[in-house]
Amino acid sequence: MTPNSKNPETLVLHAGYRADPATGAVAVPIYQTTAYQFQSTEHASNLFALKELGNIYSRIMNPTNDVLEQRVTALEGGAAALAVGSGQAASAMAVQNLARVGDNIVSSTDLYGGTWNLFANTLRDQGIEVRFVDPADPEAFRRATDNKTRAYYAETLPNPKLQVFPIAEVAAIGREFGIPLIMDNTAAPLLCRPFDHGAAVIVYSTTKYIGGHGTSIGGLIVDSGAFPWEDFPERQPALNSPDPSYHGAVWVEAVKPIGPVAYIIKARTTLLRDLGSAFSPFNAFQVIQGLETLPLRMREHCRNAQAVADFLGNHPAVATVIHPSRQTGEAKRRSDTYLSGGLGGLVGFELKAGRDAGRKFIDSLQMFYHVANIGDSRSLAIHPASTTHSQLSAEDQLSTGVSDGYVRLSVGIEHIDDIIADLEQALKQAV
Ligand code: PLP
Repeated sequence: MTPNSKNPETLVLHAGYRADPATGAVAVPIYQTTAYQFQSTEHASNLFALKELGNIYSRIMNPTNDVLEQRVTALEGGAAALAVGSGQAASAMAVQNLARVGDNIVSSTDLYGGTWNLFANTLRDQGIEVRFVDPADPEAFRRATDNKTRAYYAETLPNPKLQVFPIAEVAAIGREFGIPLIMDNTAAPLLCRPFDHGAAVIVYSTTKYIGGHGTSIGGLIVDSGAFPWEDFPERQPALNSPDPSYHGAVWVEAVKPIGPVAYIIKARTTLLRDLGSAFSPFNAFQVIQGLETLPLRMREHCRNAQAVADFLGNHPAVATVIHPSRQTGEAKRRSDTYLSGGLGGLVGFELKAGRDAGRKFIDSLQMFYHVANIGDSRSLAIHPASTTHSQLSAEDQLSTGVSDGYVRLSVGIEHIDDIIADLEQALKQAV
């Protein structure tokens, strides 16, 4: 039986590992080592030449990280994955693996602020242009494409708007040109499987729901193995032309004996080797502990967020509730299509009384943590207008979906009565 034929609840506990061969340990060991003994000089040179796969040095691979990589690959129905030091590193490397100086990518405007900064400033300064388009119109991706476009990029369930991205529509446009769609699925693990809808690559901040306990920063890039890079040699030169940094390897050819993993092997053997944003095995262990209960936690996050959305929808101090269950028209069609596993743990709402009431509400919360984070098992809240989005003009704030009274909740897995009680008392104080 292949690992992928099992259900998510089973895969998170069993994929990629069955007892430590050296000790019989059932929990995944933390292989806290920098280097690995070669069996012979021939073995060593085979590893370096990619004739054999195996461990060389923990900046590039590690057996604990490998279990995490295999588990998430199995969950997503992909071919292989790469664990890196943070979600930010995953986003950056996912793009840098294809785009070089003078190239561009087309990205949805609806992004986490850190990714926005990476794209609008740092990648631009490194010679990679990011063209931002409104995801409401998938055809905007086609219009922004030229012969230097190497990738499309978007988030499945971006906040604050919580409008699901049209994955299949944009992936199909990309396929015409030989352009892969990279999806940041951080807010919707298990709820959405982007590969089923045509995405070529998935990135995660494992810091959020996958880790789930707010202990460790980490990221993952997952390769579907389904993108036909070799059919588009001019569009995708990074994978189809000799790479001087790896003795002239042409990645689509070099990895053929291993499988359809040119994209992820290149990321590991060149970018991770050179940029060094390695994932610590201790953090991988922590994230594996989180992953083992992800299906249970996601069900509770979704159930509690739905109850919070319903409660806020009936509250007289609340002007609007932002949650996929309250959408209509095309936005609803997209959330019905792509969030087949549940509507997620994020809820936004606007207070009728505006900015000061938003701040007062946050200051009055007793159980919710006031933090710039999402996806923890604990409930979290933030008032974006006075924090994460405070540098933006009022106009730009509104265009990103942040009004003065907007509050973002990442609903946790505490008992729902306690969550509602905290919201209720804070609303009473705020208005
Ligand atoms: N992607 C999304 C959707 C995020 O929310 C975040 C962080 O908040 C990131 C990526 C970056 O992840 P990290 O903080 O692990 O670098």
